[in-house]
Amino acid sequence: MSENDTGAAPSAAPKHFLEQWIEDDVAAGRTGGKVVTRFPPEPNGYLHIGHAKAICLDFGMAEKFGGECHLRLDDTNPTKESDEFAENIKEDIRWLGFDWGEHFYSAADYFDTMYEIAERLVQTGRAYVCFLSQEEWKKHRGIPTEPGIPSPWRDTPPEENLARLRDMKAGKYKDGECCLRAKIDMASPNIHFRDPVLYRINRLPHYHLGTKWCIYPMYDFAHPIEDALEGVTHSMCTLEFEVHRPLYDWVVDRMDEMGMLVERGGVKIRPHQREFSRLGISYTVMSKRKLAELVEKGLVSGWDDPRMPTLCGLRRRGYPARAVRAFCEGVGITKFISTTDVGILESAVRDELNKSAPRRMAVLDPVKLVIENMAPGETHECDAVNNPEDPAAGTRKVRFGRELWVERADFMKDPPKKFHRLSPGREVRLKYACLFTCTGFSEDENGNVTEIRGTWDPASLGGNAPDGHAVRGTIHWADAATALALPVRLYDRLFSVENPDADPDRDFKELLNPESRKDATALCEPALAAAVPADGAVQFERLGYFFPDPIDSKPGAPVFNRTATLRDSWAKIAKGG
Ligand code: ATP
Ligand code: MG
Repeated sequence: MSENDTGAAPSAAPKHFLEQWIEDDVAAGRTGGKVVTRFPPEPNGYLHIGHAKAICLDFGMAEKFGGECHLRLDDTNPTKESDEFAENIKEDIRWLGFDWGEHFYSAADYFDTMYEIAERLVQTGRAYVCFLSQEEWKKHRGIPTEPGIPSPWRDTPPEENLARLRDMKAGKYKDGECCLRAKIDMASPNIHFRDPVLYRINRLPHYHLGTKWCIYPMYDFAHPIEDALEGVTHSMCTLEFEVHRPLYDWVVDRMDEMGMLVERGGVKIRPHQREFSRLGISYTVMSKRKLAELVEKGLVSGWDDPRMPTLCGLRRRGYPARAVRAFCEGVGITKFISTTDVGILESAVRDELNKSAPRRMAVLDPVKLVIENMAPGETHECDAVNNPEDPAAGTRKVRFGRELWVERADFMKDPPKKFHRLSPGREVRLKYACLFTCTGFSEDENGNVTEIRGTWDPASLGGNAPDGHAVRGTIHWADAATALALPVRLYDRLFSVENPDADPDRDFKELLNPESRKDATALCEPALAAAVPADGAVQFERLGYFFPDPIDSKPGAPVFNRTATLRDSWAKIAKGG
């Protein structure tokens, strides 16, 4: 039940194509005895549930094959990178329950080597410094169905290129004035093969290296180099990189020619890239740029707003790491582009919390219930089950007296036949406490019920009918004399439409769900004062799962985030179910 107890359930999932790929390589002896994968986030934002899918795959495959997974920060673009992001990435991965051991790396660790490789490419006539502007360069590159136009700098002699590259590095050119390009094939049907950019100038200081460099390698150049130098065997990424794969292989080939591939177990380790479809989830956005915009415009309270699809947001909302892992396992690894219903994630959360979350009673929309045949000041104690799914969780004592709070929706003046809760003349079970028969009620001039009255059967203390007769309805309650009023935040889906990205002409921010956060007060049984984030979410009986907010809660005074609702049986009845 602890927040960090993340041992995922053993999976019975059939092998996916990437697992099969790795298995074949292992069998063919191509890994030198060790499968090595990597997870390469850019520290320019927080990780989200989509990243969790990649993390579970990268770390999961390494675990499965007894290998290792490297955490490598892809910090090749100083524009938006920071230590704040880097630290949170580590925290999120640890929270998910994965460990990179000593294998923490940064792209920046390799900048010297990358630059050496660039010089060697220039010296062997495989790269050149190009002065086309970005627009000219795009125009020259052309479209896949027609060959591109070679850059006028394509045939500069190597020694001149080398001097220009060194000038670039020395800061003699302005940002954007020139770049280093590989000389590959301007007629290739693959646009990424048409003399791709390897290095560009950027004078923004790097968050670790400051102004040491003013040129930075492109991801397509840096990534295969990092993989090769670390002896990565299997480099798995999302589908949009599939068209970059020939370039990845081209860079690895050049490193092979330069004798730079590492050897393990007598085998030269050549990294290979394969692609899988990214995770998309309904009712949210997953692009870092869009998430950053929500944060910057104050439309959410931060990256860790409990409505965000970020891992820190989900954690703050009370999603257990095990549920996130189970969900990632469940969606599987394929090449089909699809959006996963957020309901599947929510149900993974419910499945997990149903097993682990202790039950407590709280009332969110209270109306007073008076037990008229109980004396003022009279109190009783009942035993409440802490978790019906876990007998070891035991019971607790809850006290009650003449006045209780019950849920407004649990009373109807004039109910349909199937309504088994409170209404005049009907009997219900007040959970764990007793049987109660409603005899009357009061209402204000607007017809709002202000008080429910009735009588209890003292012989039913504990909630069972003394003669064993059936009582259909059971409702939760809070003892009015001792209930604590604690703040709760009722969270719901962040967007009101399934796909906020669907219409490119519509600003996604207009599609935010105005009801995604409602602040309320819960009247709670006193035990809830002790709830702390380290113990995980609790279930408020019949209302949902609630988690003490790790930032706003104070000792003895939790503030609850609604993690997930439960299914409401009344809603089903209303639909005729
Ligand atoms: P950016 O637009 O900044 O590149 P990104 O989401 O690709 O954003 P990275 O930090 O580069 O962010 O991602 C790290 C790794 O996570 C990459 O290998 C990427 O393929 C994978 N990844 C990112 N988004 C998803 C997703 N929605 N589903 C699965 N994997 C993802
Ligand atoms: Mg990326």
